[in-house]
Amino acid sequence: MAGRSFANGLAVGIDEVGADDGGSSTAVMLEVARNLCAQHGRYQVWIAFFDGEEAVNLEWKDPDNRYGSRQMAAKLNMSGDLKNIRAFILADIVGSRELLLKRDSNSDKSLNDLVWATANHLGYSGVFVNMPTAIDDDHQSFSTRGVKTVDIIDLEIPYWHTPQDTLDKISSKSLAVVGHVILETLKMEPLSNNRTRVTIQSVFQSVADRDGMVASGVESGTSEAHQLLDDLLAKLQPTAATVSR
Ligand SMILES: [Zn+2]
Repeated sequence: MAGRSFANGLAVGIDEVGADDGGSSTAVMLEVARNLCAQHGRYQVWIAFFDGEEAVNLEWKDPDNRYGSRQMAAKLNMSGDLKNIRAFILADIVGSRELLLKRDSNSDKSLNDLVWATANHLGYSGVFVNMPTAIDDDHQSFSTRGVKTVDIIDLEIPYWHTPQDTLDKISSKSLAVVGHVILETLKMEPLSNNRTRVTIQSVFQSVADRDGMVASGVESGTSEAHQLLDDLLAKLQPTAATVSR
């Protein structure tokens, strides 16, 4: 999994604060790490923070982008670890109050299906919407090397790359929704018969966290969701199953 660290400081002429791009995903990953660490290595997950995504030029222009992720992908390729990455989940710009996450066509379809199905069955279909988009982002450093990747991003924010990308734009609920979906997606475990086992064990660090999740519709959708999710997963490619390395 990956979040974006503050990548835009070098961009000429941009005076950007970066609360959403990319402070939001950094916050989500730190919270995901806090949850996973409490489960003592139950899931094999690496969390990475990339810098230098946009780097020097204002425009997204190859190869002046994705410095951090390209470096890491190359390094993991040389060490032989790259082939052990079963799925790569990128979160990037996920904090806005009206968060609307579209399905990125540059992401792996089966992994996309898995994340969006998880979100749907947790009751977040109003955030993880079934609409297309096409995003150039850090995930491509890994997808071009054959890793299954998915990008979770809302690029359609009016304050993007402006001094108005400030903390008041950020919704803690949006961060919680994305974190919850990522954590639940991690629990997909591939079985030998091309099926997938889902292990659900919600861990909340505080009563407020839990109440926030319940208020956002988790509880009502969860019980029948398991069977629906199982049915859907059965139709997906077996290789789509798990996020880990
Ligand atoms: Zn940016």
